[in-house]
Amino acid sequence: MSEIRDIKLAPQGEMKIKWVQSHMPVLAAIKKQFEADKPFTGLKVTLSIHLEAKTAYLCRVLEAGGAVMSVTGSNPLSTQDDVVAALAAGGMDVYAWYGATDEEYERHIAKALDNGPDVVMDDGADLSEALHTFLSDKAGSVIGACEETTTGVLRYQIRDNNNTLKFPVIAVNDGDCKHLFDNRYGTGQSVWDGIMRTTNLVIAGTTVVVAGYGWCGKGVAMRAKGLGAKVVVTEVDAICAMEAAMDGFSVMPMSEAVKIGDFFITVTGCEDVICGDHFTDMKDGAIMCNAGHFDVEVAVAELKKIADSTGEARNNIQSYKLGDKTLYIIAEGRLVNLAAGDGHPAEIMDLSFALQALSLKYLIDNKGKLENKVYNVPKEIDDYVAKLKLEALGIEIDALTDRQKKYMYGE
Ligand code: NAD
Ligand code: SAH
Repeated sequence: MSEIRDIKLAPQGEMKIKWVQSHMPVLAAIKKQFEADKPFTGLKVTLSIHLEAKTAYLCRVLEAGGAVMSVTGSNPLSTQDDVVAALAAGGMDVYAWYGATDEEYERHIAKALDNGPDVVMDDGADLSEALHTFLSDKAGSVIGACEETTTGVLRYQIRDNNNTLKFPVIAVNDGDCKHLFDNRYGTGQSVWDGIMRTTNLVIAGTTVVVAGYGWCGKGVAMRAKGLGAKVVVTEVDAICAMEAAMDGFSVMPMSEAVKIGDFFITVTGCEDVICGDHFTDMKDGAIMCNAGHFDVEVAVAELKKIADSTGEARNNIQSYKLGDKTLYIIAEGRLVNLAAGDGHPAEIMDLSFALQALSLKYLIDNKGKLENKVYNVPKEIDDYVAKLKLEALGIEIDALTDRQKKYMYGE
């Protein structure tokens, strides 16, 4: 049934899953609850998230709750073939492999949706867009969807605004236990992990340009500073630009930043953040990567067109010759932390995926009661996940006394 590269890779994938699951205590606690309560009994769950070890563990947690899983990836370069082999070896239906062409990527989405899902879990909304367009015949059975990332939520929000959303959506990304930790600290660490393991170059003393000072950009810039880089931020939003300036970073337009940058990281969710004259104005040896969305933030296709020649400079680093200078792009301009690394650490995905699992249960518990709109993660789910995480970390906090509650809230 599954469509994967090589089932023989399963033992290696299993080892990766075992490692992360021992660092995901919140998800482990939720798994125990699900095993007892079986909230998804008989329900078909289709999932499209970066298929590496932490996602595999999430799939198993949902399966433990009775879900019948059908799984595909959310980025052609983030699927790890050994991990999907482990899932398939355990009997799960998986349709994904590393390096899928556009056509294969789309076919895998279609195969994953062949089950006629009751609920879907998405990262970037590719799967749900399919349900709204060329596979709209599969949307009728969908109770709702949970969305993992900022750009995905924006895509659903556009449909909500146009009244074309076909089912309710929970914006998991907008939960506090998601973006405050995953987007900021997760991206902050995993982007540098990806860049350093792929380039094996020093960061200290270099000029790092971070495009976008949202939750992800804040994390990436903060960790660049910690590594000893001179950090430049580019922005289009006046308030975010002010925040970057007050956090001590240089702020300037990209047209200026390109002249001084050694490393460029885009984390905007926008397209053509680095394009056109930016390439011609860059220094010889500049290294670009993207940690935002798809492969459109750095205009790779345009660079390919204007380059005199292209090549492979090192594993997963592409070179582009422009006259007498060479520019480099990591992982074809796709997410550097996932296409050139293992993504966010397990302890971070523990929070994001705990929200995903409980939001999915919320959708099912509230079947028929929600409109076809984008909803926030219910506060009680956010608070519960934070409490479980603190407990796992052995951190205790104070509680308001009745008198304090009255003083603050008049209760
Ligand atoms: P955000 O909305 O908090 O921040 C994005 C920032 O980019 C905003 O401040 C916006 O003003 C700025 N921006 C937009 N267009 C720009 C442009 N052309 N030039 C400069 N700045 C621009 O979003 P976020 O949560 O930080 O997410 C950013 C992107 O990263 C999204 O696409 C999101 O889906 C993705 N994301 C990736 C990872 C990962 O693991 N790599 C993790 C979380 C989110
Ligand atoms: N699918 C789109 C958008 C990805 S946004 C694309 O590939 O371009 C990145 C999302 O990946 C984040 O919201 C984050 O939660 C998730 N992510 C980061 N590290 C991960 C990991 N180790 N496993 C699974 N998902 C991860």
